[in-house]
Amino acid sequence: MAGHIAFIGLGNMGSGMAANLVKAGHGVSAFDLSEAALAAAVASGSQRAASVSEAVKGAAVVVTMLPAGKHVRGVYAEEVFAAADSNPILIDCSTIDVASARAVAAQAEGHGLAMVDAPVSGGIAAASGGTLTFMVGGPAEAFARAEPILAKMGKAVIHAGDAGAGQAAKICNNMLLGASMVATCEAFVMAQKLGLDPQTFFDISSKASGQSWSMTSYCPVPGPVPTAPSNRDYEGGFAAALMLKDMKLAMEAAAAVDASVPMGAAAESLYQAFANLGGAGKDFSAIIKLLDGSWRS
Ligand code: NAD
Repeated sequence: MAGHIAFIGLGNMGSGMAANLVKAGHGVSAFDLSEAALAAAVASGSQRAASVSEAVKGAAVVVTMLPAGKHVRGVYAEEVFAAADSNPILIDCSTIDVASARAVAAQAEGHGLAMVDAPVSGGIAAASGGTLTFMVGGPAEAFARAEPILAKMGKAVIHAGDAGAGQAAKICNNMLLGASMVATCEAFVMAQKLGLDPQTFFDISSKASGQSWSMTSYCPVPGPVPTAPSNRDYEGGFAAALMLKDMKLAMEAAAAVDASVPMGAAAESLYQAFANLGGAGKDFSAIIKLLDGSWRS
């Protein structure tokens, strides 16, 4: 296979994304360290590669969807750069620290290769449904090459700026989301203690100035928003462990540029406490149970 897309990292998110590239008519050469992940990708139409290098040889596009910065640094430095023999556009969709994103992009440039960081907003359902939002960092020419590929996996592809800007947008957004969820939970718990019915408080606040995505899409109390994870015992949705990961990335980035983030820091320590108490696997809106004292792992 030549002129294909190499896809590295076919976990919860990558499997659906690769399947959408196959559906769009691309040849996809897939590699994952996990045999189960690789087998699932092959079942949905990708070709099995025996290594990162084998997947990347002859590829026109390389997409990575890996857990964290150390995996991205390792995969590119140890295998992708050496195997990239057809001038592919390199697209890292993982959520990683800004410093790693910038370091790997600089190495790519050193190898004469174009690269973008393109982390996503939207979870597993959006990955398989092809409705992700991509926030992209990199030079305009690299964005122009990546955009049509990303459009096959998402509903919006936004150029955020130079290398690392996609990751910066992602963690600033998620820091805001994490803090707004905690604030929304606090308000519901206090409203109830003051004798307000949660539905009534929702009806008022969702139309008043307290309105936010945390309230109107992921309402932390069951009832007002039937599709919110709170109605399914906080299963599915966006795991508190992943929110904690993003909050930690945000705190790291804030320290690096000396940004003052007291609300983000407070929220991060609450998600850490919730994870320590066994809540890591629940949707992040379950943090309301930490605040109202009802959490039992
Ligand atoms: P995941 O752990 O399910 O998948 C990651 C995959 O990478 C695994 O299958 C793992 O075996 C593979 N991998 C690790 N090292 C590798 C290597 N050296 N070579 C080949 N494969 C390797 O994680 P996920 O939920 O798919 O998330 C991927 C990324 O997307 C993360 O950065 C995450 O923060 C981000 N993200 C996840 C969600 C979500 O809802 N799950 C939402 C937005 C962003």
